[in-house]
Amino acid sequence: MRFSRAYIPTSKEIPNDAVLQSHILLTRAGYIKGVASGLYNFLPLGKKSLDKIRTIVKEELDHSGCQEVDLSFVTPAELWEESGRIAKFGKELLRFRDRKEALFVLGPTHEEMMVALVRHQLNSYKQLPQNLYQIKTKFRDEARPRFGLMRGREFVMKDGYSFHENENDMKREFYLMQETYKKIFNRLGLDFRVVEADSGAIGGSGSREFMVIANSGEDTLAICNSCDYGANIETAKRQPHRNQNNHDELNVEVEMDFAKFKTPNIKTIEELSKFFHISDWFIAKAVVKKAIYENSSKIAIFFVRGGDEVEEKKAINSINALELIDPTPEELLNVGLIAGFIGLLNLPKNPNIIKVIDLELQNAKPIITGANELDYHYIGVSLEELPEKTHFADLIRVKEGDICPICNKGSLIYKRGIEVGHIFQLGTKYSEPLGATFLDRDGKSQPMVMGTYGIGVSRLLSAIVEQSHDQNGIIMPLAIAPYKINILISNIKNSDELNFGEKLYSDLIAKNIEVILDDRNERFGFKIRDAELIGFPYTIIIGKGLINSKVELLNRKNNIKEEINSELILNKVLELVE
Ligand code: ATP
Ligand code: MG
Repeated sequence: MRFSRAYIPTSKEIPNDAVLQSHILLTRAGYIKGVASGLYNFLPLGKKSLDKIRTIVKEELDHSGCQEVDLSFVTPAELWEESGRIAKFGKELLRFRDRKEALFVLGPTHEEMMVALVRHQLNSYKQLPQNLYQIKTKFRDEARPRFGLMRGREFVMKDGYSFHENENDMKREFYLMQETYKKIFNRLGLDFRVVEADSGAIGGSGSREFMVIANSGEDTLAICNSCDYGANIETAKRQPHRNQNNHDELNVEVEMDFAKFKTPNIKTIEELSKFFHISDWFIAKAVVKKAIYENSSKIAIFFVRGGDEVEEKKAINSINALELIDPTPEELLNVGLIAGFIGLLNLPKNPNIIKVIDLELQNAKPIITGANELDYHYIGVSLEELPEKTHFADLIRVKEGDICPICNKGSLIYKRGIEVGHIFQLGTKYSEPLGATFLDRDGKSQPMVMGTYGIGVSRLLSAIVEQSHDQNGIIMPLAIAPYKINILISNIKNSDELNFGEKLYSDLIAKNIEVILDDRNERFGFKIRDAELIGFPYTIIIGKGLINSKVELLNRKNNIKEEINSELILNKVLELVE
């Protein structure tokens, strides 16, 4: 390609809503152009790089035995009703009616469609396993589209689905996909971690996320500094704290008789801790939320130890809510709760109140807790004596410094990550409601056991740039650069420079190397700034040195400029890119 003929509208302008470097640089360098909130056009450079990512994804999946399909983007809403997911997906699901008033959705993910594709076709264990995928546009009407391609509304996803006769075979495929994903992200040159994850609206049990490590990432990860445990903060676990200092040697016995204690206007954990001269370890903290369900809401109270925080995702999962929001003071009063004095015992008997206690409080004693009465707390409470059906769940948001739940040695540290892939052990969550059954080895009809596997293909382009850029622009990894080589002619009016550049350009094309010739009638400074902004891996600068048979080779990765004999440059470049 000749730069003079190419559609590469580089610019100095920063998009209004841009905060991430990847968004700014991909726009400025002419890879993408925003259309409306969460919608982007891919320009020639962006399309080339996106296709390269797509190819790497496809090559590795095909190599692992997956088969590519292409399903209709427009999906009948009926399928979403059959699976029961239409409500759970909420407003992210874009719905519309056709001219016959039939309801459709734009596919945000394709479990339903894929199950509908194979049900009644895969009838026998002999036809299993199968692993089908597509690389295709998805639409999610995200509440907060932002960060460019990172969180678009329309985006490209690779979504894959596997079908099995039993759990074991599904797990085998799950681990095969995990290894395949690692190969893909390694080929893309990414620094990433595989972490344990929440299964979200997709459902199912075991799931892992692939996180590109970047300070700008939206996810917080808890990672062990000693072993390879890592988890999304939404599900991260720790070794349970054992006592107030979490060290055996500092364990202090505390005795407290059960009593109701006047605590006038003493409401916060800090105030209580001061008032009783006691560590917040002994205080049960009540976190009150309004839990939103499909057609109703409830007031949910989550109890953790005073020094701990509630992880919202764990809390949501513990009560199967759609979301948690802050209740108003009136809503609390309506169910008889008194802010600052909410506690484990004597909660108002109201069916609209749900109580969940963190597992680390199981059998805890002695505990201080609100008396559900203005200006009173109970002290010396024992959680050994709670009714049997009390609901306990893991609610804790792990902290930096907590001990790793796996190696029991290292401490957890936080890192930020960009989720670029997510794999799930789905089980029969969709095959059952959608009636995708097969005859097993005993001739019995069973729902197929499924796995599902996603990669954010367009998000990857942003993630790569997020990890690979400097103050001058993008540093495109060789594997996904739109052009590997940029031949920059300093002054096209100099016929020696021009002829040398043209010759090198046609030699490289003859060798099938992706090359662009910057033959624009512009100043050198302007052209080199574009080269750096776009991030061509190598730029060959043909300038005044040519008289002495010298050209320069700029390596974008380390910004080192090397003088090279003009006779040798062709071979040197071939060596670099092959
Ligand atoms: P997130 O938590 O970031 O919203 P998700 O859990 O909703 O992601 P999945 O349903 O697992 O995502 O989708 C598979 C992959 O698709 C994700 O790992 C991510 O890389 C990508 N993806 C999801 N939502 C978007 C989006 N709005 N824009 C771009 N890529 C996305
Ligand atoms: Mg999402």
